[in-house]
Amino acid sequence: MHNHTIKALSALLQSKQVSATELAKDYLARIAASDINAFLHVDPELTLAQAAAADARLATGKAGPLTGVPMAHKDIFVTKGWRSTAGSHMLANYTSPFDATVVERLSAAGMVNLGKLNCDEFAMGSSNENSAFGAVKNPWDKRAVPGGSSGGSAAAVAARLAPAATGTDTGGSIRQPAAFCGITGIKPTYGRVSRYGMIAYASSLDQGGVFAQSAEDCALMLNEMIGFDERDSTSLTVEQGNHKEDLTRDLHQPLAGLRIGVPKEYFGEGLAADVEAAVRAALAQFVQLGATLVDISLPKTALSIPTYYIIAPAEASSNLSRFDGVRYGHRAAAYSDLNDMYKKTRAEGFGAEVQRRIMVGTYVLCHGYYDAYYVKAQQIRRLIANDFQAAFREHCDVIMGPVAPSVAWDLGDKANDPVANYLADIFTLSTSLAGLPGMSIPCGFGQGEKNSQRPVGLQIIGNYFGEAKLLNIAHQFQQATDWHTRAPANV
Ligand code: GLN
Repeated sequence: MHNHTIKALSALLQSKQVSATELAKDYLARIAASDINAFLHVDPELTLAQAAAADARLATGKAGPLTGVPMAHKDIFVTKGWRSTAGSHMLANYTSPFDATVVERLSAAGMVNLGKLNCDEFAMGSSNENSAFGAVKNPWDKRAVPGGSSGGSAAAVAARLAPAATGTDTGGSIRQPAAFCGITGIKPTYGRVSRYGMIAYASSLDQGGVFAQSAEDCALMLNEMIGFDERDSTSLTVEQGNHKEDLTRDLHQPLAGLRIGVPKEYFGEGLAADVEAAVRAALAQFVQLGATLVDISLPKTALSIPTYYIIAPAEASSNLSRFDGVRYGHRAAAYSDLNDMYKKTRAEGFGAEVQRRIMVGTYVLCHGYYDAYYVKAQQIRRLIANDFQAAFREHCDVIMGPVAPSVAWDLGDKANDPVANYLADIFTLSTSLAGLPGMSIPCGFGQGEKNSQRPVGLQIIGNYFGEAKLLNIAHQFQQATDWHTRAPANV
């Protein structure tokens, strides 16, 4: 049962071959028996209450396609009932009085929440090793990182502890863990999924999205997640009246005539040979499906790293100022005065990487440095976005390349080297800076004794609001290949 897609589980639920309660119990038992540290908070009572409500709805015949299907949330989305920690000691015992919009919408669709998923602290990281509650293990190879920051989400879906999970992507945190864990993940256009109740990291970049086994499943979930939300000031209003876009509508379109841009900057020095081989094989598969490959250039790609690592910490330093020992979460036990309370609370509550970013962010926003760093980074951000627009205008419909320069690395390998982590984000940051939608689909494995069990992801980048097209392209690939059906051994 646990290898079923959402699509398959939905059919079984609708035809009463399985109940939502049975499914929830089955997954809760798998979660309890698992040793990969993917979940931070599970509460069977809350989960089973949702399952019972889903069963009641299924009995009336008024259920939607997701009713009764289990899923789990990255612990960046706040949830009524389940704790919401953002992977931080600061919020270790925090429970939100309300649900994030994403949580509310998926619950309204009848989905059953299995619990909260581990992640890098405040979504800052690429390996999940910055979580205050311990790293997550990659289910394909427990010596390897699952990727980050949504490592718990990706690992849970790969280990079949949940058929799907939410995630957030600020600079790659959906695409990269999806790639490292051999599953499908999509980050929509910035503004399509509400940020209300998503614990903020870098507000101009943060975007919610989803992980599942297939593109089709991602489309089904995203259908319920997208849409205007007046509680998010950057939410986009693309829907006309009550008409909501159906992201499954183009899944079955053939790919004949599709022009795929292949940026030369994504295949240069630093890209591991085994990743390149798998990605090139996937591109060849698309040619078989009728697409053509076009060489393109995104000349500012290398600048995305310094640009992102100025803008994101700047926004983080501002967003995280709310954790002051007064409003939310942790407060130091002993202090001499108010300033001392702030200092001790923040020193105790935040981990090393979060503190590093608050310091960098505060520095680049200082009077005297603001123009030299922050304003300059914003200008380069625009140039990066312009590169993509030139490519889409003149050469191609979508862009493809690797998600990360290598397969998942070993736990501990880069844990004490922040810059090495930042450099590994090279292929995902530009998309985020431009606010474009991006996707990762499994397309093979690494090579050699160590890497042959570590998945490779293909990145597909679309133009604004191109989600339906990305999902169509991914679905067609998945109809022709079986990488997305592979699961780790013993799963
Ligand atoms: N690895 C990037 C960072 O550490 C991206 C994280 C994310 O997308 N949340 O900021």
